[in-house]
Amino acid sequence: MFDKKQPTVLVVDHSASNRAQICDCLNQLPDLRVIAAGSGRQAVGFFREQSPSLVLLDLALGDIDGISLARQLRAIERETGEESVAPWTPIIFLSAVDDEDVLARGILAGGDDFLRKPVSEVVLLAKTQAMLRIVGMQREIYEAHRQLQTIAHLDGLTNIPNRRHFDETLAAEWKRCRRADAPLSVVLGDIDFFKQFNDIYGHPAGDSCLAAVAGTLYDSLFRVEDMVARYGGEEFAAILPGTDGEGALAVAERMRRAARELCIPHERGVGGLVSCSFGIASINPDASSLPQELLQAADAGLYAAKRAGRNQVGLARS
Ligand code: GH3
Ligand code: MG
Ligand code: MG
Repeated sequence: MFDKKQPTVLVVDHSASNRAQICDCLNQLPDLRVIAAGSGRQAVGFFREQSPSLVLLDLALGDIDGISLARQLRAIERETGEESVAPWTPIIFLSAVDDEDVLARGILAGGDDFLRKPVSEVVLLAKTQAMLRIVGMQREIYEAHRQLQTIAHLDGLTNIPNRRHFDETLAAEWKRCRRADAPLSVVLGDIDFFKQFNDIYGHPAGDSCLAAVAGTLYDSLFRVEDMVARYGGEEFAAILPGTDGEGALAVAERMRRAARELCIPHERGVGGLVSCSFGIASINPDASSLPQELLQAADAGLYAAKRAGRNQVGLARS
């Protein structure tokens, strides 16, 4: 297996002797992997599988011209988008002809630079190093951006998705379930007598309790498409796409039991332990309904559960 982090240069040239000459030259650079393709088809395969950091592309290939291939590589980048190692791979054209029109067309097609053949070793090595430097910086920025995206979607105290992530996911799942004519359920959960828990045991103990409850609610969802988020102070909300009311009731019961089974003492709690109350609501999203209404219905169910004595799952009366 190759190391995806190791800088890799893909050399695309129809002529085996040119390929060998360029590869020999590049192999002088330490810690660089050099791979070579003799056709456009092979180049596309390597580009997809090996995410090179730089492409050196001869303009005159056997099966396709270099400019069309560059356009194709840019299209692949757009299609892989977020999942790709980085969103941009520099492409340097190699050309025996010194034609300004060709140069302009190449840059428009997605190329970044031109090198005149026969290529000077000094210039080839210098330009390769310069491009790899830019790629290195770009990938660091990309990685930092990716990490920030993850952090921006997590709640700092409990380490589960935050309200922002919840709102975005609910909007997306609402549309998805509407298109698929599938049911969508939400579960709202709230820790019982939590103000008193803080008053009795202190805020740090309250924070630990919140994190423990969040963790166990998270663990009680089994489907990949399900999610639970911290919705507010001591409130949690789950999205269950493709799940109807009966299924939601079963999941909420599992969440309720899981919170209870943490066995966190609470002298003013239900039966001397921390517990949670839940409200559930389900819908088949359509044009006449809104996500907000689903949440309001779940909140009404939660209110009913509180009034009925807490540590239970409530349904809104419709
Ligand atoms: P109920 O059973 O009706 O839900 O009563 P409750 O006391 O849980 O509800 P209330 O809304 O009166 O109080 C919520 C408490 O949650 C108040 C607040 O101190 C606590 N809380 C909210 N966020 C945090 C937090 O981040 N850390 C800690 N330790 N406590 C929090
Ligand atoms: Mg509350
Ligand atoms: Mg509460």
